[in-house]
Amino acid sequence: MSDCLFCRIVRGEIPARKIHEDDHVLAFHDINPVAPVHFLVIPKMHITSMAALGEEHGEVMGKVMTVAARLAAEQGCVDGFRTIINTGRVGRQEVYHLHVHVLGGTEVLPAMLKR
Ligand code: AMP
Ligand code: ZN
Repeated sequence: MSDCLFCRIVRGEIPARKIHEDDHVLAFHDINPVAPVHFLVIPKMHITSMAALGEEHGEVMGKVMTVAARLAAEQGCVDGFRTIINTGRVGRQEVYHLHVHVLGGTEVLPAMLKR
């Protein structure tokens, strides 16, 4: 069994403020939000990072993105939002279980990267 942090949230071993759960996808509020709306959408199956994606993950990742879009609307992000997937060392990924950040709930977000 994986001792990955997000696998443990999937199994209910660590609490999370869940906003969606189905057979394949889980979404929960980020514990350290950087925007008024900041939640994470993850496949329940352990995929280490976006760099590990293969053809076999197409269906579950389609579900992840569809849930992300629906929840963004439900959380009030009617004029838009930002999705971020940090990957690997260069992307400053901290939790090695693929997750999509959804950010919004403000008039406008800061620029994505500073020059
Ligand atoms: P990253 O891997 O860099 O994309 O970021 C991991 C994200 O997971 C960070 O935004 C953390 O605040 C968030 N995070 C870490 N632990 C938890 C937790 N127990 N519940 C919810 N979010 C978490
Ligand atoms: Zn995991």
